[in-house]
Amino acid sequence: MDLTWSESEEAFRAEAREWLAANVPTEPLPSGDTREGFALHVEWERKLFDAGWAVVSWPKKYGGRDASLCEWLIFEEEYYRAGAPQRVTQNGIFLLAPTLFEFGTQEQKDTLLPRMAAAQDLWCQGWSEPGAGSDLAGIRSRAVRDEAAGGWRLFGQKTWTTRGAFCTHLFGLFRTDPNAERHRGLTYFLVPLDSPGVTVRGFPRLDGDEGFADVFFDDVFVPDSAVLGEVNKGWHVAMATTSSERGLTLRSPGRFLAAARRLIALAAARPEAATDPLIDRVVEVWMQAQAYHLFTLAQVTDILEGRPPGARSSLNKLYWSELDIRLHETALELLGPEGQTDNPWSRGFLFSLAGPIYAGTNEIQRNIVAERVLGLPRK
Ligand SMILES: Cc1cc2nc3c(=O)[nH]c(=O)nc-3n(C[C@H](O)[C@H](O)[C@H](O)COP(=O)(O)OP(=O)(O)OC[C@H]3O[C@@H](n4cnc5c(N)ncnc54)[C@H](O)[C@@H]3O)c2cc1C
Repeated sequence: MDLTWSESEEAFRAEAREWLAANVPTEPLPSGDTREGFALHVEWERKLFDAGWAVVSWPKKYGGRDASLCEWLIFEEEYYRAGAPQRVTQNGIFLLAPTLFEFGTQEQKDTLLPRMAAAQDLWCQGWSEPGAGSDLAGIRSRAVRDEAAGGWRLFGQKTWTTRGAFCTHLFGLFRTDPNAERHRGLTYFLVPLDSPGVTVRGFPRLDGDEGFADVFFDDVFVPDSAVLGEVNKGWHVAMATTSSERGLTLRSPGRFLAAARRLIALAAARPEAATDPLIDRVVEVWMQAQAYHLFTLAQVTDILEGRPPGARSSLNKLYWSELDIRLHETALELLGPEGQTDNPWSRGFLFSLAGPIYAGTNEIQRNIVAERVLGLPRK
């Protein structure tokens, strides 16, 4: 990979930086995992969309700028550098959208993508169930064919649905063939949460209000057009979504580069706390953030040359989730007793602890790396 940005990439960076400097809210918004904060974040996302910055890498006809993957990375870097709000549309634009581009019908793309880009439809992710987390293929929510009505009837329960209480739509897996092998009889559905028979019950996180939800399906009708990909091939489609979640799109390096920069500033502002061993750690995590950046650029080169990351996205997930904890732990040590108070670093630390759990636990990622990247035997 050529590590020099081209003139047009630099111009793209300058344009993004200028717009963000003029428009990012000067006061941080309240957390997007609270009802009030979510609404303010959606307002911000609509402003981003109106200015053409919501989904830069998408085709223009869907609200994007036809930006390249490298330009998208540049935008992400500038977005985090500017301290812009977290993207509460992320489940849609970063997880579902790449899957829609790959598996969606033309009609699904034309109807769903523009509304997603404009933060009109707000998507949440329905994988986990009370009896199925790591063992996703063990889900019991089911869809029963309704031939006469030309669609499906959904039954069951999803849980841990991030921001489900604030969203308008859910994508998720349902069992459509109870007799097939576990991974085989699943189908990927796209469900409006205002469909009759859906009950969404928010429940609180330690640090917010209804940041999570249980979603119940009681004979919920969806038409055939709500199936993404082929019936009974949902596992394959869902793996494309999880590859986006673990890999490049959900956690681009811009987030960690910006946090590493803030950590350096924190150390510089506290010379009395910055002992030699602590400074060594600051430098180490800064280097790890740079390493993730370079790793990602190598991955982009692979993608552009036709080698999609597939199971290797589990390596990203292990790396970014552990890096995020180290970054925040180091900041808390620099802060000393102040680190125990409610502040952006302590809040970030609490959330970083969830990193090894969401998007598939790190134990599961290690199993995937062992078996599918390194080719080691299952036992
Ligand atoms: C912040 C956050 C947001 C989330 N958002 C969503 C969401 O929007 N939508 C959604 O569907 N889910 C969401 N989840 C749920 C998440 O996907 C699950 O928590 C995760 O997959 C683990 O499942 P579980 O909680 O049932 O734990 P379990 O699967 O019961 O695992 C318990 C422990 O056993 C370990 N373990 C299990 N199986 C194995 C194995 N084969 N080998 C080694 N170790 C194993 C796990 O690593 C873990 O440490 C979210 C979770 C968090 C923390």
